[in-house]
Amino acid sequence: MNQLTISLIVPMYNEEDNIDLFYNKISQVMNLNNYNYEIVCINDGSKDRTLEKLKLLAKNDHHVKVIELSRNFGKEIAMSAGLKYSKGDVVVPIDADLQDPPEVIPEMVKKWSEGYDVVYATRLKRDGETFLKKTTAHLFYRFMKKITRVDIPADTGDFRLMSRQVVDAINLLPEHHRFMKGLFSWVGFRQTSIEYNREPRYAGKTSFNYWKLWNFAIEGITSFSFAPLQVAMYLGFTISILSLLYAGFLIIRTLLGIETVPGYPSLMVAILFFGGVQLITLGIIGEYVGRIYNETKRRPLYIVKEEINFNDNLFCTESIYSDRGVASTKDDI
Ligand code: UDP
Ligand code: MG
Repeated sequence: MNQLTISLIVPMYNEEDNIDLFYNKISQVMNLNNYNYEIVCINDGSKDRTLEKLKLLAKNDHHVKVIELSRNFGKEIAMSAGLKYSKGDVVVPIDADLQDPPEVIPEMVKKWSEGYDVVYATRLKRDGETFLKKTTAHLFYRFMKKITRVDIPADTGDFRLMSRQVVDAINLLPEHHRFMKGLFSWVGFRQTSIEYNREPRYAGKTSFNYWKLWNFAIEGITSFSFAPLQVAMYLGFTISILSLLYAGFLIIRTLLGIETVPGYPSLMVAILFFGGVQLITLGIIGEYVGRIYNETKRRPLYIVKEEINFNDNLFCTESIYSDRGVASTKDDI
């Protein structure tokens, strides 16, 4: 029997109330479609009982594999760890809070077997999110599209299916500032999309507040674009040209003998305005310098405290492609 091997990558931070339902739902979809699968759960320094629950599941079901990170590293890094550990022919990062419906996965697999390397899931609706979050997210994706050369699909989260070749390519990227959505697109390959409705979170609260989202946006922009540095330059140009024009205007006025009033207000405005522009420019440069600094430290991306079920043979570790979409497993040999 030809069986496809799927790795699910599930970053988890304080998800104790979601784990059981998530596990049930995902296992159901996997078994129903007769996939050979592994659920790679990355416990990203949870402060609740996430790890205990995961251990219990892993003990009873060896499809569940656990990577316990030494502290909270953030979702992007947790996902990177999962990608490194995954072994499947196709890999699907998915949130633990059931916002990404597992039922969509067979659809993705179908597209994959048609020859696509990446099948990303675009959100049609986002239930249970605030108006502000939806609007800012919408604007962010449009803005990113304008200023980066990498084609990052709009309204698309990390929920997508990637072929082994794509995952191997992503695993080669060494950078620390990992805006995964950008990296997923950066590697290229044949990409397509399917649409789905994003459900509200099942339990618990989102760990992304606006301050985190703002930082996430800055991460995305500075990782994939020089545009902000260029904005500073163009702003400088524009202001210089305008001030030259203004200087010309003043000279002509003086030559014509028009009396000039001592210009305290205009002076203050000019000083404050230029001060502001310079600070902004410095700030933008600082963002990039900070990133260069972080990259040069060359620290490991994450530290793994414990691995569970990874030495297991239940999930085939080697697979041989007979044809696209039909992967024969070790058991067939
Ligand atoms: N997550 C994580 N580390 C973090 C924050 C979040 O692994 O530091 C996981 C979280 O457990 C969930 C996924 O990333 O599985 C998405 O997080 P969340 O639902 O809070 O984000 P949102 O859906 O609101 O964007
Ligand atoms: Mg969520």
